Amino acid sequence: MSDCIFCKIIAGDIPSSKVFEDEYVYAFRDIAPMAPVHILVVPKEHIASTDGINAENSVYVARIFEAIPQIAAAEELSNGYRVITNCGEDGCQSVKHLHFHILGGKQLLENMG
Ligand code: 5GP
Ligand code: ZN
Repeated sequence: MSDCIFCKIIAGDIPSSKVFEDEYVYAFRDIAPMAPVHILVVPKEHIASTDGINAENSVYVARIFEAIPQIAAAEELSNGYRVITNCGEDGCQSVKHLHFHILGGKQLLENMG
C-alpha cells in the first residue's frame, strides 16, 4: 500500500534498522523502544491487522513465528521475551500494517491490560 509506513520501510523508501529478512518477513528495531530490545516483525505483504489474516495469507504469519525464535536467539533473549500484536482501536494499533512486537532484555511488567 502506497501510504503505509511499514510498506515503505520494507521497500527501503524509509530507512530502518533491519535485524532479519527473508522472502516473507521483515524485522527491524522500533523507532521508540519500550525495552532494551524492541523489534517489529512484519509480513512483506500488506495485511492491515490480525483481522486481515486468512487462509490465503497465513503463510506470512507462520513464517513470522518461525523467524521470531531466530531473532530472539540473535538478540540473546535466552531469559525470555514478550510477543505482542495490537489490533484496532481498543487494541491501540497505531500503524495499520500487521506487526508483532518483540520486547525483551529486561524483566517486563506482568500487567498487559
Ligand atoms: P502499534 O502501536 O501500532 O502496535 O505499534 C507501532 C509501532 O511502530 C510503535 O511502537 C512505533 O514506535 C513504531 N513505529 C512507528 N513508525 C515507525 C518508523 O517509521 N520506524 C520504526 N522503526 N518504527 C516505527
Ligand atoms: Zn503496509
